[in-house]
Amino acid sequence: MCGDSKSSPDASVMLGMQMPNTDKWSQRVTTALGQNPSAFTGPGTNTYLVGTGEERILLDTGDGRPEYLPVLEEAIEQSGCRSIQEIVLTHGHPDHIGGVQSIFDHFGPCRVTKMKYDAFDSPYDFEIHEIADGDQISTEGATLHALHAPGHAPDHICFMLEEERALFTGDNVLGVGTTIIPADSGSLADYMDSLHYLLAQKPEHLFPAHGPLVTNGMEKIQEYIDHRLNREQQILAAMQQGAENVQAIVEIIYAAYPKSLHAAAGQSVTSHLIKLESEGQVQSVPNTQQGWTLL
Ligand SMILES: [Zn+2]
Repeated sequence: MCGDSKSSPDASVMLGMQMPNTDKWSQRVTTALGQNPSAFTGPGTNTYLVGTGEERILLDTGDGRPEYLPVLEEAIEQSGCRSIQEIVLTHGHPDHIGGVQSIFDHFGPCRVTKMKYDAFDSPYDFEIHEIADGDQISTEGATLHALHAPGHAPDHICFMLEEERALFTGDNVLGVGTTIIPADSGSLADYMDSLHYLLAQKPEHLFPAHGPLVTNGMEKIQEYIDHRLNREQQILAAMQQGAENVQAIVEIIYAAYPKSLHAAAGQSVTSHLIKLESEGQVQSVPNTQQGWTLL
């Protein structure tokens, strides 16, 4: 659950994008593609071998497809390492945590670290080591600094690779498309705070969980902030024009998009309205079909 490709103008790009199975993005970072392409994951989840030594950190694991294991072996060989020191996860969505068990089965068990969140972690049997904002995980040649960045998911941690000022953004900033804010466990208000928090770290490159390397890191994060603020202004403008519920707002803002995308767009609009409500700008209207009013 990652790219909001259903409601994004980049949907076709996200879905059709080809990425190599393995690639070297820097002296310390080699990719292994999760082999799980879809409308939500684009070309699939990027997993990363990080470090310069014989043992490396594996950041994220894909969703557990058998086809991924030979790709990971190829990446291990390409990177010049011999084995996996430990697994570190950006968050508990299945396309990030779902590959852990098959990696244990194939390579043997190792330490797994993530921010704990029962609703996501409970399906899995392995032990999880907790991580919090400000913690560091090290391997030869690389230091990962944890940055708690909730919004897409409550347990989402981004990692600054200190030696390169490069940021592993997970699903918060993607190489293509825009991030989905799930209605049940997401929060757009938290997400906006997280984008500002990540921007303040002044990253140079971004290593996203989906899509290619981003070389203009700060510009890309600012673009994500601007995109959401523009959407918010469009929603307020639609309500000023008389739109009184989510469907009416969607029909104004997404007029140029096929109707088949309107349900997903409605979720996005709702996440904005919840944020605007917390800021005292709008109010939901009880006993209506997703009715909202300006304050
Ligand atoms: Zn996710």
